[in-house]
Amino acid sequence: MNYHLVLTRRCNLNCIYCHGGEETGPDTELKYTIDELEHFLSKDPDFQLMLYGGEPLLRIPLVLELLDRFPDTRFMLQTNGLLLHQVPEDYLHRFHSILVSIDGRPEVTDFYRSEGVYDRVLANVQSLNSIGYKGDIVARMAVSEQTDIYRDVRHLLDLGGFKHVHWQLNVIWDAEGNWTNFDRWVKDSYKPGITALAREWVDAMEGGKVQGIVPFLPVTYSLLTGEPSRLRCGSGIDTFAIHVDGRVGVCPISPDWEFSIVGDIRYTEPAELKDIMQVDEPCPSCSEFAVCGGRCLFANKQRLWGQDGFRKVCDTVTHLTGALKVQLPRIRDLVKSGMVDMENFQYPEFNNGCEIIP
Ligand code: SF4
Ligand code: SF4
Repeated sequence: MNYHLVLTRRCNLNCIYCHGGEETGPDTELKYTIDELEHFLSKDPDFQLMLYGGEPLLRIPLVLELLDRFPDTRFMLQTNGLLLHQVPEDYLHRFHSILVSIDGRPEVTDFYRSEGVYDRVLANVQSLNSIGYKGDIVARMAVSEQTDIYRDVRHLLDLGGFKHVHWQLNVIWDAEGNWTNFDRWVKDSYKPGITALAREWVDAMEGGKVQGIVPFLPVTYSLLTGEPSRLRCGSGIDTFAIHVDGRVGVCPISPDWEFSIVGDIRYTEPAELKDIMQVDEPCPSCSEFAVCGGRCLFANKQRLWGQDGFRKVCDTVTHLTGALKVQLPRIRDLVKSGMVDMENFQYPEFNNGCEIIP
């Protein structure tokens, strides 16, 4: 199974759409020992570890200890990228994938994340490439009202330093204070941007290149093959979070929601966790379910945007899948002619923390 290890709840940023940076005090730090973690994991015959926070690189000695303690384990890292240069090179090569938070163009990234963040993050991504890092470097965008999805995704792809670009809509927490006019942004900016991105994505395939636009890849694979998908982030199915106090949750973002806590590394066996929670209606009866998978277990259970808001977010999902369906005949022809390979759409190789459905 896949475990997000929350290494600290603290963060060295305080981004507008997130309140993690404000967390302080002793409850933000690890309350279990690495021996206890090892004992729990020893009962799971096939696991990988995804380092998460807060900002996990605020705890570099702990990161190195984990990499040393589990030398044969696959590791993923989700980081804001500011401290990557402090991780010794030989340890960086141990990560299968590194997801780096960046929101797109400099003005958008710095607006949400803080002045100067864009330059510092890009410098660290460049050095990751310059040391010959062979793993997957994913630009992980939080998409909000300042985002122009077309321009920001294109910008990150054109930089060339990221193999993949993924985005998540800022629609988990309360809309209050986050959005001035979500409906208008979706209609005038997001939807046309997705349509254009999908069209140009397939234009590029005509030259033999399948660009690493994460949400498009596995959705297209599902559309091409008809293979149904379950919740793509894996939460509650085969992907769990180990919170700083040792409790096991279905999702890394929700340690404070009782419904999401399903065990404790000191008392729970990994086998008891598998398939412990599924999405509720309206997802299983939705016509998009086989492709969408239910988008987000947390949003499905908690609905902080209410019923109406939940439906508005679903409308963005059906627009994205619809934009890809329009392009499907062209993609089928390109696969048939051998210009692109079906394997190009099989992403991710292993769950790397990209939720897939924005
Ligand atoms: S589109 Fe909405 S209702 Fe349908 S499966 Fe996805 S999240 Fe559930
Ligand atoms: S998509 Fe939702 S349930 Fe899945 S990891 Fe993200 S917040 Fe958690």
